[in-house]
Amino acid sequence: MELQMENTSSICTQTLINNVASYLSGIPCKNSTVVKLNNDNLATNGELYFLPSLKVWKSVLKDTDKCVGKCATILQHFLHVQDGERNNGIDEDSVSQVLQLLISSSRNWSIKIEKYLLKGERVCLFLQRVPLIENAIKTTLICKHDFGRTSPINKVFSLKLVEDKESELTTRRLHLIQSVTERILNLHGCKVSNQHSDYRFVFTSKSEGNVEENYEKYICGVVKNAEVNCKETKLTWKEYVEYKTEELKVLNEHKYFEAQECDVKREDYFLQNLARATVTFELLSVKPSRPVFIGCNFATDKAITNTKGASFILYNIARITAIIEKYNNRRLKGEYPNLPHVNQIDFSLLNQEDEWELIYNFIIGYQEMIKDCLKCESIFQTNPQVICIFLSKLCQKFSIYYRRSRILTDAYDHLIPTMNARLYMLHALQIVLQNALALLDIVPVSRM
Ligand SMILES: [Zn+2]
Repeated sequence: MELQMENTSSICTQTLINNVASYLSGIPCKNSTVVKLNNDNLATNGELYFLPSLKVWKSVLKDTDKCVGKCATILQHFLHVQDGERNNGIDEDSVSQVLQLLISSSRNWSIKIEKYLLKGERVCLFLQRVPLIENAIKTTLICKHDFGRTSPINKVFSLKLVEDKESELTTRRLHLIQSVTERILNLHGCKVSNQHSDYRFVFTSKSEGNVEENYEKYICGVVKNAEVNCKETKLTWKEYVEYKTEELKVLNEHKYFEAQECDVKREDYFLQNLARATVTFELLSVKPSRPVFIGCNFATDKAITNTKGASFILYNIARITAIIEKYNNRRLKGEYPNLPHVNQIDFSLLNQEDEWELIYNFIIGYQEMIKDCLKCESIFQTNPQVICIFLSKLCQKFSIYYRRSRILTDAYDHLIPTMNARLYMLHALQIVLQNALALLDIVPVSRM
């Protein structure tokens, strides 16, 4: 059975924000920021909110504002535009009238509003979750590694770098920033080529000195030694990976990964991969323009935190993979029924608050994260650290969910439908995690 082709724009929160702003202002809005997204406590705060004060909406209304100061809020202004006589004040009834109209109007949008609540100055909007959950999971499964691809910008970029002669690790960081930026540009539909380029940048750690003609400098921070607070000039990439490998052995964090009998050679290979991922993550987890501090001392808290960062992420991906494999093995043995087609899944069973927060922030939010990785409107900015933060937050959230909810349940008939819905959610999360890691060029490690 073929899945019906879904459009990624159907789960785009920016489109929803633009719809709300356009509806209330009566002016077509693009990239509007008057309506904000919430990230947590969604059940009490709603998924979106806005301040109705007309001051906040000034930028939307611009020169079309014909209010002459009578309307205090956008809701009042909405009524004023609709019916010129009713601009002498607004009571509770008219507030609810406007917001009900907004909700009704959202029935024609791909993301629909369920209800609103007034909280202090804020108008909180709550979404219809079930159709959005279904849409988000289906879209992820269909798009797979293309999930998150934005509408093409169609520009050609030429990227180069100037090596840092004193610090091999800094040069490594520049290489990483360049290659991640190239992948981000590709995802945004830009071409990376040295010919016919619209934009030319050189990644460099030096603010002084000239660069190639027609190229603009993109100054990046150096890799610093945390202990002495200056540029790390001795340690090489290879040595640092070896050091991290030893550190992982001592910290014994890898014990979290599915324990399995394996020989010393395979164990070393596994730990080296984990260490390489850890160092890559560490060098990219800070905004490119800032320096990265590395600590080559077991007592340095920062180093330990960073190590935990990357291996924690990889561990959670391995955990998701393990759950899916375990399910498949038990299914093959006949202990579980076959997984029904996605169209047969009852997604209303994903009714736990942390399930919704995972889906809303990390599956639906993935596209917004991709957009935040790159700014190229007035000034060019690459933000690989956004991917690192996204991954860390996702895995923290998933880890809590995993502790609270058993995904693979006993094979009782009444438990199977929920398990199936959760397996589809896991699959979508797995795609998101793999896509985000691929942008950083980190290959998920696994002992299996
Ligand atoms: Zn008005």
